[in-house]
Amino acid sequence: MTGTILCCSRNMELVAGYPYWLIKNGLPYHYPKLLNNTRCGAVIIGGGISGALTAYFLTNAGIECILVDARTIGLGSTCASTSLLQYELDIPLHQLKKLVGQQNAIRSYQLCGEAVDKLIDLMNLIGFKEFDRRQSLYFSDHTSDKKFIEREWRARKDAGFEVELLSARDMKQSYNLQAAHGILSQKGATSNAYALTHGLLQYCLQKGCRVFDRTRIKTITYEKKQVILKTEEDCLISAGYAVNATGYEVADFIDKKIVDLDCTYAIISESRAEEKESWKDNVMMWNTNDPYLYLCSAQENRIVVGGRDEPFSNIKTVHKYLDRKSVKLEKDFKNLFRSFSFKKEFAWSGVFGKTKDSLPYIGNYIKTPRTFYALGFGGNGITFSLVAAEIITDLLLGRKNMNAEIFSFSR
Ligand SMILES: Cc1cc2nc3c(=O)[nH]c(=O)nc-3n(C[C@H](O)[C@H](O)[C@H](O)COP(=O)(O)OP(=O)(O)OC[C@H]3O[C@@H](n4cnc5c(N)ncnc54)[C@H](O)[C@@H]3O)c2cc1C
Repeated sequence: MTGTILCCSRNMELVAGYPYWLIKNGLPYHYPKLLNNTRCGAVIIGGGISGALTAYFLTNAGIECILVDARTIGLGSTCASTSLLQYELDIPLHQLKKLVGQQNAIRSYQLCGEAVDKLIDLMNLIGFKEFDRRQSLYFSDHTSDKKFIEREWRARKDAGFEVELLSARDMKQSYNLQAAHGILSQKGATSNAYALTHGLLQYCLQKGCRVFDRTRIKTITYEKKQVILKTEEDCLISAGYAVNATGYEVADFIDKKIVDLDCTYAIISESRAEEKESWKDNVMMWNTNDPYLYLCSAQENRIVVGGRDEPFSNIKTVHKYLDRKSVKLEKDFKNLFRSFSFKKEFAWSGVFGKTKDSLPYIGNYIKTPRTFYALGFGGNGITFSLVAAEIITDLLLGRKNMNAEIFSFSR
């Protein structure tokens, strides 16, 4: 198939408020705008964590890459991310089995678990220091959830995860948390997706990858042996392949509706560096509610609280609700931890995509040849970005990838 598609000509507002990690890191590097015609083996559209990880894998595989982003690098959803790295998906494993089948559900969980370890290896390799292995506590405040939690614990245990059932008493004693039932998992980590994106791209630049920001792709022409991307400045990029890592703006590129957009909120406390109290082992936590509430500690003994998701209608509404939502998140925290001090410092919100099975879309889409998609949606956006980068590298090199079908557009 050949043809040209026209992409949207403006940035969608994806973030509101003051994302902590953006404030903390600022704009650490300058990248040029593309101002001439050029050619490469693979062009990656999108300079968030998905694009950066793909650039890392493709560059390491010896493919000559160009990465372009319409915005300044990292200023899509990635700068809003709270960057919990989890093997646990938005849909519990025992329920996911019913949706996508036992094998695919287990494999999806396992791939995310492996991705946590691989991300840590990769961060060590590039000398990126902002990560921390953490246990993860999935809890319910409803006594009626006993069976649900036991079923989930059993499913995870059978899938090979190191998990422990916790009672209300265990959680009160260990974490001072008011909850009814819980599952403690050994695997998990926290990081800083925004800084990692820059870290990866700096590494890729040294290996010969070219990175351009403020370079919006306006049209794509699909030819038999190449794709030709035209930028807003009318510069042409001819490439053997394209990788689309445009996150929630992918709707500008394909006609298939694959994701529902929500808006999710987060707050972070002031530094509590002088306070002794923190919960045991700095475990990250999230609950069984829909939408779920999640908590974790960050640098300077700060506390991050996130959740209160709502369907996304427009960014004006998000700005309007941000204050109200942040007050609610602070109350949510105080209801769970009555003895902890918490004074909010920053609040922000970001667009968040949900697929019907909580799985990402990775691989090719029949109507856009020579193009691979790296669309890690949902609460596991980052671990899925790594899974996507691996699968796409295999597909692009003509290698078989046993996991590709699970996340394909045709599933
Ligand atoms: C508040 C919040 C908390 C979150 N917490 C977590 C968490 O704890 N753990 C987790 O795993 N995930 C989390 N996520 C999700 C995670 O942040 C996202 O999955 C991830 O950042 C998406 O990265 P991305 O690179 O795919 O998309 P983006 O970061 O949005 O990058 C896509 C890029 O594509 C560019 N682009 C779009 N169109 C074009 C075009 N035409 N031409 C050129 N460039 C274009 C955009 O400018 C953008 O920079 C959270 C998200 C939010 C909002």
